Amino acid sequence: MSGKESEKKEEKIEVPEEERALASRMLERLISTPTVTGMEQAAEEVVRGLLGPYVDELRVTGWANYVGTINPEGKRSVMLVAHIDQIGFIIRAIDDKGYLKFSPVGGWDPKVPYGWRVKVLTKKGAIKGVIGTIPPHLMKKEQREKPPEFENLAIDIGAESKEQAEEMGVRIGDYVVLDAPYDELTRYRVVGSGFDDKSGVATIFMAAKRLWERREELRDVRVHVVATVQEEIGLRGAYMMGYELRPDVALVVDVTFATSPGLPPEKVRAELGKGPVISIGPIYHPEVVERLLKVAEEREIPHQREADPRGMGTDTWAIQIARGGVKTALSSIPNRYMHSGVEVVDLRDLVLNSRLLAEYVLDWAKKGS
Ligand SMILES: [Zn+2]
Repeated sequence: MSGKESEKKEEKIEVPEEERALASRMLERLISTPTVTGMEQAAEEVVRGLLGPYVDELRVTGWANYVGTINPEGKRSVMLVAHIDQIGFIIRAIDDKGYLKFSPVGGWDPKVPYGWRVKVLTKKGAIKGVIGTIPPHLMKKEQREKPPEFENLAIDIGAESKEQAEEMGVRIGDYVVLDAPYDELTRYRVVGSGFDDKSGVATIFMAAKRLWERREELRDVRVHVVATVQEEIGLRGAYMMGYELRPDVALVVDVTFATSPGLPPEKVRAELGKGPVISIGPIYHPEVVERLLKVAEEREIPHQREADPRGMGTDTWAIQIARGGVKTALSSIPNRYMHSGVEVVDLRDLVLNSRLLAEYVLDWAKKGS
């Protein structure tokens, strides 16, 4: 790169304050409502509050998938999808001293929860706890070198006996989340746990708002805004909803790895704040991908491209093969430190992605195919 080129400043991406604030508000509400895989029904009130105003109909399926529909009479249908479940833990046993033994729900690195505060979600409400640690002074050499294992960890809720733990409301089968509140680091960058995939849920809800405000332009297009369950244990809600709704097109929003220290730059390229990441690869339908890229160019929506030769990790994988096949695409939110208590996303990516989804749908509605 010549001196001149390197001096050329990159144009700073900005989004309207109103849209940034909405993204932050929606994300905070979603993050503050724990929905470990298996307890997604806990989000009903929040989903009704956030999505309800922007759809004609909103229903909750038997397994607590949330389906908001705009223009229900439309003949052609598109589904905007993000999963509402998040990884967590489940209580497996309470020992005589009142410690809680637990197992992971979803893909955890056991180093992550070691030494964290947690919330145990009992029927009587959330109670505070910590995942205890071994002081370094007392660690054996092998312990220092080996990562902790889940079977050796326990949650301490301050109880002095099994009876006291039960009196406090704890039962085998209660879910647990990290106590990792939502916070703004800067105007655009926020930190929390469960941005996978609540940043996607906030994105499709914001897209619903945009489409609701321009619903006369939808013509014969029916829009389903779907928050799916149980993605983290095998895309199970996506299988249910792809089969049930059988849309013509499904646009999925999930998180993707963002560049951060220690990650190989040749493998991880998506950057925070540079816009949605459009996946290209076998399970992403070429027509849909092309339209996404075209709309992004025409509307000057900053975006990034990612080549994905497989595509197993998101709801796209399940919806693509529903019935005779659904035309699918994926536009992701870059996420640093995925599956930890300190995930970081950039609110601009949520706003820009919601704009991309809405413009895609309106373009499809206008063109007639
Ligand atoms: Zn995940």
